[in-house]
Amino acid sequence: MSSKPTWDERNPVQLSIESISVFYGAAQALEDVSIQVGRESTVCIIGSNGAGKSTLLKTMCGLISPARGRILLDNSDITGRSCHRITRMGMSMVPEGRQIFLPLTVRENLEMGIFARAERKDLAGAIEEVYRIFPVLEKREGQLGYTLSGGEQQMLAIGRALVARPRMLLLDEPSLGLAPIVVEVIFSTLLHLKRSGIGILLVEQNAFEALELADRGYVLENGRIVMEGTGAALLSKDEVRRAYLGCG
Ligand code: ATP
Repeated sequence: MSSKPTWDERNPVQLSIESISVFYGAAQALEDVSIQVGRESTVCIIGSNGAGKSTLLKTMCGLISPARGRILLDNSDITGRSCHRITRMGMSMVPEGRQIFLPLTVRENLEMGIFARAERKDLAGAIEEVYRIFPVLEKREGQLGYTLSGGEQQMLAIGRALVARPRMLLLDEPSLGLAPIVVEVIFSTLLHLKRSGIGILLVEQNAFEALELADRGYVLENGRIVMEGTGAALLSKDEVRRAYLGCG
């Protein structure tokens, strides 16, 4: 494993996961996991099925309490706080499987993002911003969730998280099950968000796109971090290429 990241003074750590261990009953799903995300940085976590990626994100959102360790957001301890409270503190989650409200319209789904917002005044403005990022959502504004394609549902899930105007966005496998052309749209949107200064923690099986986007990546195997480095450095490692890129 390489040495710890050296975030400089202009890029202090925004999100710090410190030695988290999580159990489901007697079974340990995460062991001593530490991850740091610098301000306005993009970090990805790659790992195969069952590695513990979703468990980690659920723990960060307060859905699971860790047996050990803590999570700091802008130096505030958010370990075990409710999802709602964490969102109000500036960190929003785009869950695996999108979890949009299928019987509600696109606009109503976006309005659900407001419930977590500290500042409720400018809902219309926040939704306009989402429409600028995903123009197709404006076209579909009155359509019910279940009539959208998989890609549009993913855009809606990201849009709903953005309505809360987060400083940090967590995404659980946003490209899962999508056609390559839609995956491209999702990753170019993430690049746009990264450039706009939002911190991103991305969990992905699509290792190539994720490591290309990320400033830093971590490899999770059987609940442990086994490798970390810059996205470019991990992309060049034989073990990563063999296990996650299907090369060699
Ligand atoms: P995938 O990509 O398949 O979703 P993952 O990397 O997100 O995998 P997790 O879903 O976090 O992995 O699962 C990590 C480990 O914890 C696995 O061994 C899984 O079987 C186990 N696990 C997950 N959820 C539960 C649960 N609710 N009860 C018991 N064990 C669980």
